[in-house]
Amino acid sequence: MARYTGPVCRLCRRQGEKLMLKGERCASRKCAMERRKLPPGQQRRPRRRKVSDRGLQLKEKQKARQSYGVLERQFRRHFASAEKRPGITGENLLQILEMRLDNVVYRLGFADSRRQARQIVSHGHITLNGRKTDIPSCAVKSGDIIAWGERSTRTEHYKRIAQQIQDKIVPNWLSLDRENLRGQVLTPPSRADIDLRLDEKAIVEYYSR
Ligand code: SF4
Repeated sequence: MARYTGPVCRLCRRQGEKLMLKGERCASRKCAMERRKLPPGQQRRPRRRKVSDRGLQLKEKQKARQSYGVLERQFRRHFASAEKRPGITGENLLQILEMRLDNVVYRLGFADSRRQARQIVSHGHITLNGRKTDIPSCAVKSGDIIAWGERSTRTEHYKRIAQQIQDKIVPNWLSLDRENLRGQVLTPPSRADIDLRLDEKAIVEYYSR
């Protein structure tokens, strides 16, 4: 199961905006974008160059891919499935990304970042409809129940999350039982439910050339 293992703050600095890949640290003063806004490897602000349409499309595609922690091959696969579905391809793509199990675990507040959610899932701490599932890219459906495995409820992480989650507001396409740390997918998310600032049309244009 391939994943990006390099420094993630570098990705934000390259994009020139916060991608929120490190949980709590992203909201703190330790965030690399607060301390050093320059792109990686540059000592001073580069001269402004006009970015081509293709460059802008690539930037949006990379932003989406890095935000959800997906490598290029899998991202292309998600795009191919989005194209086959009825409706608007860009919105279908975002919906597919949102309905990955690792993203749902993150949205429910079981992890501080998608990266951590991916680790929690791949270490077998999460159950999907009562069965242990360790595939972060697994697609969830309406009605699916996401919960913690019996043994995982004894971990320190679980105890910390159980305290933190009391104030957690989940997106309205999910429901959360805060007592038992159990979530349910109510419906696939619409574009309005997805709070990422992304131009999905640019991603579609990028792959349509
Ligand atoms: Fe990006 Fe978070 Fe690192 Fe800040 S702390 S640069 S938002 S990953």
